[in-house]
Amino acid sequence: MREKLVIGNWKLHGGLLENQGLLNRLKQELHDLDGVATAVCLPYVYLYQAQDLLQDSSIAWGAQNVSQFTEGAFTSCISAKMVAEFGCTYTIIGHSERRALKLESNQVATKRLLNALHAGLTPIFCVGETQDERDGNMAELIVRNQMLNVVYGLDDEAFALAKKFNMVIAYEPVWAIGTGEHATPEQAQRMHAFIRMMIAERDREFAEQIRIVYGGSMAPKNAYSLLSMPDIDGGLLGRAALVAEDFVDICKIASRCYQQKTAVRESSRAVPVFEA
Ligand code: PEP
Repeated sequence: MREKLVIGNWKLHGGLLENQGLLNRLKQELHDLDGVATAVCLPYVYLYQAQDLLQDSSIAWGAQNVSQFTEGAFTSCISAKMVAEFGCTYTIIGHSERRALKLESNQVATKRLLNALHAGLTPIFCVGETQDERDGNMAELIVRNQMLNVVYGLDDEAFALAKKFNMVIAYEPVWAIGTGEHATPEQAQRMHAFIRMMIAERDREFAEQIRIVYGGSMAPKNAYSLLSMPDIDGGLLGRAALVAEDFVDICKIASRCYQQKTAVRESSRAVPVFEA
């Protein structure tokens, strides 16, 4: 059974004092949740603070990106190895805001992914279509294209690292990010199943294990319907990650969905015993 994963993407938000309040609150409320791993991805400058505050908790932390370079004359870049030194478990790669604002291509995203894997990080690789692409019936084609380098572009060694460090895929329809309009559970499920099928083209076993999380205006009011879908293994949260109550609520809903799924599984396994 795949554990759920709920990750907060803080984007360009935070401040030492606010972070302290938010992280301490999450720490108090997020422990002993059955079947859910939780994490926050903060701006680089707060990784040290996250490490300090979260090291004795069950909440992991991560970066929002890493450089495509490993070392050298690349002003302002931050390498995967550097963030790993701050105890990061995760890094987001290929977020649509990076793809749009910084014109990051699939090729650059793949280089970042490789660097993350070589530094022992778990990449959260983001894919998703724009509204125009969806309207033009191109959603699956776009996502397939974004996934190609991951499925076929990684050599065996890199693919083994992706398995070893439990690479995560985040399906984030661009039109749903920060808009308050989320994908319907059916739309999201369909795309998640499609992504899983693509991964199965390379490795069936990994396709069953890999967590594919949904991102795009996930909130307490829509989390249950999304997270109870069979191929939705968690959430990547923007706005909801900045409000302790919302983040905690979504993590608890994820746990409930996990427990329900486990119960269904157990009951379908139970073999009826008939007396002669
Ligand atoms: C995101 O930026 O990854 C995201 C999902 O944002 P929001 O939850 O605010 O839509």
